[in-house]
Amino acid sequence: MTKIRVLDPDTVNQIAAGEVVERPASVVKELLENAIDAGSTSILVDVASDMTGITKIRVTDNGEGMTGEEAALAFTPHATSKIRDIADLCAVRTLGFRGEALASIAAVAEVTLVTRPRGGGALAGTRLVVRGGEIVEKNEVGAPEGTTIAVERLFYNTPARRKFLKSRNTELAHVYGAVENLALAHGEVAFRVVHNGKERVATQRSEGLLNTIAGLYGAELARSLVPVEGRLPFLRIGGYISRPSESRGNPSQISVSINGRSIASRQIAAAVREGYGTLLPKDRYPVAFIELSIDTGLVDVNVHPTKREVRLSREREITGAIAAAVEEALAGHDLAREAPAEPVQQQIAVQEPEPIPAPAAGEPGAPYTAGHRELTLSDKQLRRTETEGGENLLPAMEPIGQVAATYIVAEGADGTLYLIDQHAAHERILYDQVVEQRDAASGSQELIMPVVLSLPPKESAALRDALPLLADGGFVVEEFGRDTFAVRAVPAALGAVEDPGTVREAIADLLADEARTAPDRREAVTCIVACRGAVKAGAHLTHDQQKRLLAQLARTKTPWTCPHGRPTVVAFDKRKLDRMFRRG
Ligand code: ADP
Ligand code: MG
Repeated sequence: MTKIRVLDPDTVNQIAAGEVVERPASVVKELLENAIDAGSTSILVDVASDMTGITKIRVTDNGEGMTGEEAALAFTPHATSKIRDIADLCAVRTLGFRGEALASIAAVAEVTLVTRPRGGGALAGTRLVVRGGEIVEKNEVGAPEGTTIAVERLFYNTPARRKFLKSRNTELAHVYGAVENLALAHGEVAFRVVHNGKERVATQRSEGLLNTIAGLYGAELARSLVPVEGRLPFLRIGGYISRPSESRGNPSQISVSINGRSIASRQIAAAVREGYGTLLPKDRYPVAFIELSIDTGLVDVNVHPTKREVRLSREREITGAIAAAVEEALAGHDLAREAPAEPVQQQIAVQEPEPIPAPAAGEPGAPYTAGHRELTLSDKQLRRTETEGGENLLPAMEPIGQVAATYIVAEGADGTLYLIDQHAAHERILYDQVVEQRDAASGSQELIMPVVLSLPPKESAALRDALPLLADGGFVVEEFGRDTFAVRAVPAALGAVEDPGTVREAIADLLADEARTAPDRREAVTCIVACRGAVKAGAHLTHDQQKRLLAQLARTKTPWTCPHGRPTVVAFDKRKLDRMFRRG
């Protein structure tokens, strides 16, 4: 009796059908999945390539192996040891279950298999050569326990598919990607990838995902990550996510596994991104490694032939819990610590020191007395955002001064040097308050003099369109006469703006294409109001104003970034400063 059986036609018909072998990386993925399902603890992937592309893939595992009879059956279509019938699928724990991979691979390549079952039952191992789906050689050989499968001449008999292959490096990159995905989901296995004799990837066997991440992407990335945790009765969320300072231009670095299966899910990636909220700019994505354990009854794996996609019941609850877990993980962390400033260090290392010229009047560095108007404007802006109480989320720091009238320089109690972007910081403060007022549907401030806008027809049509949105954001705008509008009130965060220019600017921003087409226009309004109402870069601040700004920033919920996700605070701790000056 063998453990492998051919599924009955009824069951076969109910399993998602389709091609699984698209490229060398698909072969690697299927062979690795089989090795993992066989209970391996150590897997070697050996890839050879020449100018024409990948010429050979060999996967060696120390799993349970197969008898000679099983090995021959394994290449039959729909032959599997993993399920008996369709009912088994709802509790399936193995990665494979279709019984199709070996048959499909052997149909389009030359495959050599050497295997011996674990446990010493069989004295010798089995060697099989399968070409174009036919077993062309079968003999007994001496072999270690476990299985080695070598695949050569992939697509030799399907030139059309061979034509679709990309450059050697692209195919290799896909191979590494396939290994990384499985390695992340299976820390219990040590993976090693060798290409043309050189080791390319190596992970240790370990219980911790963080160790695997370190093995794949380096200790530095691993150290900078923040752990995520969450739970629902049918769900456990674990994993690691990047600080906002470590972001990417696309979501491809958000990796997700469900019950040990590496999957692609736009919904889950979006949930992770959502958890960052305004900590990241709109078009940036985090690096994340999310591990989900979900009751198998809620996960339908029978959706896609390559099993890269699954269907989740209660998906809303699951994505909601993921977003919340990410948000919570970030809220509990001092996000600035890792933000600085390797580039600065490098710059200092390579630049010749320049003699410091004596400051000339009117140039940066020269003593400057801010004009009265400038200071009172900043004062008004800061007064509007003054609040009582609240928790301090920034380390205590004392301002020392300003650089370029743009950055506040401050010292922490432990000798940390902080640079604060005054505009970004005030934007964050305003943004939080506008959101609060917006959600409380309060916070309109009547203007002493309405601001009148006469607009060209196109703009006025846009403004008419945007009226409900503006009202929601705290603007009271009335149309009177053709293409003429009166702004009677603005969000309290903008203050009683004596300066009609600010109102015009804010409205112009709102009418700009970006705001009109933004996926969340309400959010866009809030950002614009925060930006326009905030202390400007280039405004000189008194010591007292700097202090107030820092105190207000410390009481926001996410003081480390502005609503566009840019950093507000950059820190250089004493150790870093010492290193920069080579003090040891
Ligand atoms: P599936 O994984 O869906 O069952 P495959 O075609 O990938 O289908 O493999 C067929 C069968 O061959 C598996 O069910 C398993 O019993 C056996 N097999 C394949 N690879 C290995 C391996 N590396 N070690 C032990 N058994 C294997
Ligand atoms: Mg398989």
